[in-house]
Amino acid sequence: MPRQRWPKIPDTLPCPGGDVAVRVVSPAEIAKYADPGEELFGCFVQEQRTIFLRSTVHGEARWRVLWHELMHVGLEDSGLRNGLEHALEEALCDALTSLVMRVVYR
Ligand SMILES: [Zn+2]
Repeated sequence: MPRQRWPKIPDTLPCPGGDVAVRVVSPAEIAKYADPGEELFGCFVQEQRTIFLRSTVHGEARWRVLWHELMHVGLEDSGLRNGLEHALEEALCDALTSLVMRVVYR
């Protein structure tokens, strides 16, 4: 089976709390948003309404990271993020991302 071609990552996405910019950046640049010792593949910076994606992650993995970060946006914009324990938030984002990847890109 030929490898699926993954569409270009969009520059901007309309989200409930307003547009979110998407930027693919170098490992050094995304590291600015990491906690000490943490290796980020993506992150959503609410103050900038921007999702940063690590440039060394490609194809399906890049889309998976984008969807994961969009789930963070959804939780933030809906107010559900308030009071949500961090590990649970990450698990929710992963679970919903797996659902989307299965339904949209099967
Ligand atoms: Zn996350």
